[in-house]
Amino acid sequence: MKRASLQTKFSISYIAIIVAVLGLMNTYPLTVSEDLVFRSKESTLKSSVSVMATALTGLSELNEENVASAMTVAEEAGVSRILVTDAGGRILYDSRETDSALGRYAFYSEIVQALHGNDVFSVAFEDGAFRSRCASPVIYRSQTIGAVCAYEYDTEQAVLLHNLQTTLLRISEAVLVFIVLMSMLLSRVLTRRFGMLAGAIRQMREGDYGQRASVGGNDEIAEIADEFNSLADRLQTTEEVRRRFVADASHELKTPLAGIRLLSDSILQNENMDKATVREFVGDIEQESERLTRITEDLLRLTRLDSGAVEKAEPIPLAPVVERAVHMLRLVAEERDVALSCEIERDGVVLAREDEAHQIVYNLTENGIKYNQSGGFVRVRLAGDDAECVLTVEDNGIGIPEADLPRIFDRFYRVDKMRSRAYGGTGLGLAIVSDTVRRRGGTVEAAARKGGGSVFTVRLPRIRQEEKGV
Ligand code: ADP
Repeated sequence: MKRASLQTKFSISYIAIIVAVLGLMNTYPLTVSEDLVFRSKESTLKSSVSVMATALTGLSELNEENVASAMTVAEEAGVSRILVTDAGGRILYDSRETDSALGRYAFYSEIVQALHGNDVFSVAFEDGAFRSRCASPVIYRSQTIGAVCAYEYDTEQAVLLHNLQTTLLRISEAVLVFIVLMSMLLSRVLTRRFGMLAGAIRQMREGDYGQRASVGGNDEIAEIADEFNSLADRLQTTEEVRRRFVADASHELKTPLAGIRLLSDSILQNENMDKATVREFVGDIEQESERLTRITEDLLRLTRLDSGAVEKAEPIPLAPVVERAVHMLRLVAEERDVALSCEIERDGVVLAREDEAHQIVYNLTENGIKYNQSGGFVRVRLAGDDAECVLTVEDNGIGIPEADLPRIFDRFYRVDKMRSRAYGGTGLGLAIVSDTVRRRGGTVEAAARKGGGSVFTVRLPRIRQEEKGV
């Protein structure tokens, strides 16, 4: 439906424009030529009439004889008919031999006007001929003693004009046919390309994200197609990420659920199970459900970050947040025999939520402790310059292999699955850190530490408010 209407619109507008142009082409040259002929007629006829009138002005009185002899000059002027009347309008001379009006009274308007002392000229193009009339008074001593009137009937120029008209009309017809065909062809090509684009969009709407539009050309439609294709690329990537995330999440949830089921089945089926084993199994079930809780909490946090529904940020001084998170992990560090230190070199206020800032410091520090060894250390440091606050969490633990570094912030990515699980990791901690930092306009990067272990660096834009406080 739409394609047809677009095509019709294009065709109609092309044709309307061309019809207007052709209309102008068929009228303007003709009007101009007609006008030129009119003017040339006027000048030639007026000059012949004035020659005749001058020839007659020498006569004190007009009669058939003296007019006839004076008129011999004028007869060569190439005029169709000449009439000469006396002051009373009686025709004294008629150049036409057959059906001569000699002796009759002429009441033609131009003769009447000439007898009133006016020069008259009129020309018209009718019935395929130019008809021109010109009349002048014959004056003798300021007295109108008669009138000269010349008529011209010209078919020759009329034929030329007619030929011009026919030629123009033929050209116009040919142009019109050509334009109609061209406009149909062009609009079809155009609408076909639009159709291809619409088809690709429709297929993508139906879930085929691999669909790309190729409309060819180098114009605006091609530009729209390019834009569509890059949009499709992005959608496809997002869709793949989403699918992988859902698959990974279900897998992660399935493992503890399967554990719980196995443990509860064993308890239920084994009636003679001793109390200590039951307690042990229930303890395991509790651990698994804690894991489930952690995963779901992390997933919820990530989903909130994904949805873009970020809670309103407020200016947060980082030092207290860093100190509190480190304090919370002190016991865990001690248990693992890891030396945990915290250094505030320069405090800074950032725009975020307090729980987000806490999560960032907590996750990084906890990782530093988890992926460490007995006797190791974790150093948390807050510094920065006037533009940003820089938080570094450095450890001399097991480190991250070079090859894994680029993927470390991916959801559910773990270098060592067993180790992560053993420490209750969900594989989502760094993803949450990275998403939160990015959402608040900062960056986070992981690197290998010289001498073993890893360094995580978070940079967040510093806000001015801090200066007032200091
Ligand atoms: P997890 O819950 O498994 O700790 P994270 O997203 O926090 O998930 O971290 C992803 C993976 O990155 C971890 O499983 C671990 O392999 C690696 N990792 C993170 N921090 C460190 C670190 N400080 N030292 C060594 N490996 C680390």
